[in-house]
Amino acid sequence: MKTHLFVTLLLLTSTAWAEFRAGAAKVDITPKLWPVQMVGSFHERLADKAHDPLYARAIVCDDGETRLAIVIVDNCLIGRNYLDRAKALAAKRTKVRADRILVAATHTHTAPPGKDRRTNRDDAAHRAYFKQLVEGIAESIVRAGKNLAPAELAHGVALVPEEIFNRRWHMKPGGIAVNPFGSPNDIVRMNPPRNLIDRPAGPTDPEVHFISLRESGADGRPIALLANYSLHYVGGLPTGGVSADYFGVFAGHIEKALGKDAGFVGLMSNGTSGDLNNISFRVPRPRQKPMQRMNEVAQLVADRVLAAHKTVRFSKDVSLAMEQTELTLKNRQPTAKEVAYAEAVLAGTAPKPLSGLAEAYAHRTLGLANGPREEKIILQALRLGEVGITSIPCEVLCEIGLTLKAKSPLPQATFTIELANGHNGYLPTPRQHARGGYETWLGTCTLEITASIKIEKALLAMLEKVAGKD
Ligand SMILES: [Zn+2]
Repeated sequence: MKTHLFVTLLLLTSTAWAEFRAGAAKVDITPKLWPVQMVGSFHERLADKAHDPLYARAIVCDDGETRLAIVIVDNCLIGRNYLDRAKALAAKRTKVRADRILVAATHTHTAPPGKDRRTNRDDAAHRAYFKQLVEGIAESIVRAGKNLAPAELAHGVALVPEEIFNRRWHMKPGGIAVNPFGSPNDIVRMNPPRNLIDRPAGPTDPEVHFISLRESGADGRPIALLANYSLHYVGGLPTGGVSADYFGVFAGHIEKALGKDAGFVGLMSNGTSGDLNNISFRVPRPRQKPMQRMNEVAQLVADRVLAAHKTVRFSKDVSLAMEQTELTLKNRQPTAKEVAYAEAVLAGTAPKPLSGLAEAYAHRTLGLANGPREEKIILQALRLGEVGITSIPCEVLCEIGLTLKAKSPLPQATFTIELANGHNGYLPTPRQHARGGYETWLGTCTLEITASIKIEKALLAMLEKVAGKD
């Protein structure tokens, strides 16, 4: 009788002292067939080699009740259809549910296409790459799951204000160019000529949040470190090769400094960097050698993270919670006037002056006019211990990330991983929409004007839910 009671109590309380476990793995997703296109430019760029390897880097965490996975992929942007496929494969092969998986692209501009696009080449190399990408993401989750071990988690934050600049600028008279829709009425300009800049049109976010995982017990073998910084990418690479950009170099530094063996994984996720890049507009930098800037940025961010890492406190009392929702948003529709202008551009009859990007945007305008009216996007809120993570499938403007950080109910920290679970263009606030500029242009930005308000509202409600769960 006594034994029976004891067993019952054990069952009742077992979840309360279930062990927190974590595992990590990375899978090489460098293309095997060449040449491949690289995404992130208006003209076609081809690669016939790799400057450095591309990876899918995964963390799997389990608190006895919830198992979740975070995968950071060296790609510019990945279509939801491919990510859904990767998640389904991983769910079939592991104990991670598809809606407990966050997969995000880093936004390196030197990786093969990960999304169906009008300008994609459809040949053996590219078809093979889509398969390799999907397989590699799924495989990274499978391997990370196999590496699950009793673990501890710590959170820290470093500040790197000097490597990010808001790239949208109010201009002095004469500084606004005609946009791809034939209008001279944009109020701000992206990556403008220096001589006419007045003031930046938005804030920056210097925070580099990180989550560190290590095995519990005397040995404390490091498992992984996931960082988050709001920097678009760095670039400055020699032509003709794929690269993981500064994201990969950062991960390499962290792996060298903290990893006791090859199993340790460093990850750099992209924050809300839709309007933040590495160009020092006010103080021009001297011309740099290929890869120099990307190496310098990665070194500085890694140094600051490693310094902050020395003071963090690990806890093995970690509970997890994750919420996923699908939000239906309207796609923007061009007006009859905008459609007529696009058709005139393509017919060569549009009035001058013409933007150099008019033709590219004419295709995008007509693409939206003929495309789906609605989009179902995935939003996620995760809690790992006291730390909140939100995910958005867009290139998110910085002020949205700052709002989520400020309004999050989680007391310690919350950060956003962008370009997660799909790609739906840029996400500006209505305030930034009114100012125009590249990030708001029809086609670069495809979701309805009030999308950011609806997304913020949904994510904050989801954060409330994960904050309230034990
Ligand atoms: Zn971008």
